[in-house]
Amino acid sequence: MKHYPIVCGKSGGFTEGLESFRELCRKEGYENVVFQIFSELLGEEEVMSVCRSIEEVFPDAPYFGCSTNGNLVDCQLSGTQIVTAIVLEQATTHCMVFQYDLAQASAEEITADIAAKAQAHAWVRAVELYFTIPKDSTTRFCEGLRTLRPDIQIFGGISCSGDITSSDCCVFSKAGGFSRSSVIVVFYGGEEFYVDSIRITGWKPLGRKFHVTACEGSLLRELDGIPAYDVYHKYLNIRNDENFFYNTLEFPLFYEHNDTTILRVPTASHPDGSISMSSDIEPGSTVRISYGDPKTILDSIAHDSSRIRRFSPDVMHIFSCAARRTFWTSNEATYELEPFRDIAPSTGFFSHGEFLRDKGCLNQHNVTLVIAAMREGEAPPQEDILPERQVSLSKMPLVSRLATFIGATSLELEEMNSRLEAANRNLQQAAITDGMTGLYNRAETQRRIEEQLRSVDSTAFSVIMLDIDNFKQVNDTYGHQEGDAVLVALANILRNEQVKSNASFSAGRWGGEEFMLVLADTEISAASLIAELIRQCFSNTSFHNVRPQTISLGVTQARPDDTVDSLCIRVDTALYKAKKTGKNKVVVD
Ligand code: GH3
Ligand code: MG
Ligand code: MG
Repeated sequence: MKHYPIVCGKSGGFTEGLESFRELCRKEGYENVVFQIFSELLGEEEVMSVCRSIEEVFPDAPYFGCSTNGNLVDCQLSGTQIVTAIVLEQATTHCMVFQYDLAQASAEEITADIAAKAQAHAWVRAVELYFTIPKDSTTRFCEGLRTLRPDIQIFGGISCSGDITSSDCCVFSKAGGFSRSSVIVVFYGGEEFYVDSIRITGWKPLGRKFHVTACEGSLLRELDGIPAYDVYHKYLNIRNDENFFYNTLEFPLFYEHNDTTILRVPTASHPDGSISMSSDIEPGSTVRISYGDPKTILDSIAHDSSRIRRFSPDVMHIFSCAARRTFWTSNEATYELEPFRDIAPSTGFFSHGEFLRDKGCLNQHNVTLVIAAMREGEAPPQEDILPERQVSLSKMPLVSRLATFIGATSLELEEMNSRLEAANRNLQQAAITDGMTGLYNRAETQRRIEEQLRSVDSTAFSVIMLDIDNFKQVNDTYGHQEGDAVLVALANILRNEQVKSNASFSAGRWGGEEFMLVLADTEISAASLIAELIRQCFSNTSFHNVRPQTISLGVTQARPDDTVDSLCIRVDTALYKAKKTGKNKVVVD
């Protein structure tokens, strides 16, 4: 694969550039050429005149492109309109360009069509995307491409304009013409085609986690129940003024999605405390403030670029967030791309958002650098390639050490907090549980009866009171410990799935060898059947040392003027009757 950049000068000369490239193609025997166009100009006529020139000189060649926040050739900013001829040298390498109008079809329809096309062309190894700035989330689009063969890499960018905060942009191709609302899809592949794609941010998480408690699309309303702006104000002292965007750019949010960390930048804050983010965030997800420190970013790029170097690409396509360009204000816009310059020829642009498939899932990023490395043929022997560059941690800047300190302290606090929460849950559970049987205790059982009496349909429930027959004898004959085992066995019957499947009830230990069941939404007739089922179950239970035992049960249903006391007296009376009339039976009030 080869790249031939052809710069369009204001004074023309572009057609000449194309014609001399056509000569070169004749001489070198290049037959398979695709043109990629990056334009800082957004006007339809300005863009289409470039396209027409290509069509005149190369009537059969596909072309595609988009508007940008700056065009990159070999990791350096280039002219306002850049055309790059991508030459596919191997006869087995293919490239196809499609364009979909986002206003004409849904994300599901478009992605289903892309998937069908990728399925039809078994040679596809990579899918490159050029999006116009989406009106809402790209999540459905990303999810739609999940069905693509897992080995197909997907990468790309969102078009942009000179103004990073504007939604003005365009994409265009021979396949679909000029559009302000479309996605261009480029397939690359073939037997001899190899591809690797990576994503680098360099931003690092800082401090504690926040839960996204209210968010609609890209409008982030609340973190941990407080207005999102208050978080930026409280923790970073960032004010809601004209510098908000530039100040928050150093502190975007890290957001966990699809098992991947995605960056989102606040773009504007609103009077109600909500913040507009660069793209959508899923409600319920976890976010962390992150920080961008120049030294840390450069170190991470130096480290991560080595993978691309080892891949040994013929060419690279670079999608770098326009926010990164803004971040490096005191340096060259392309300062951080330096480590890639000598790897291979590259083209790219400063984008509004970046795409990369990671662990099977396509994600839309922000503030991210996505690099796709492509090659035809086998890589050269690995000995020729420099080993991975080690990052020197001994020369870490102070800010980075402080961030590490904050990160470690927050982690300790988070761990302590989750231990406290777990201890608190255990305490709360213990406060309502009977220690020996694990059933509810008397206070909780009473509370549950009260709850039923207060409910709208206060007479729709029943209670069952049960007591082990002649239990004193069990203790006297076998010892207290064996008695305890009988109590636990009865509790297990009351928890038994099969017994519970007949009605929903909560079981509590009322005291000693007496138990109370509260059966919500259960008429007395159904409650009696449950009582009988429990009686049979218990009398059929065998113990290690103790001979089979029996229980007596009383059943009643709530009445309009019942109190906890009146209801308990009635069920106790029924139970007493069962005891008086021979035990091992159910008496229904
Ligand atoms: P009835 O059929 O009339 O209910 O006779 P009973 O012997 O079961 O009734 P009684 O009230 O005379 O005796 C209850 C016995 O339950 C007395 C007490 O020692 C025993 N008991 C209460 N709590 C526990 C406990 O936690 N473990 C053991 N092992 N026994 C207990
Ligand atoms: Mg008893
Ligand atoms: Mg008793």
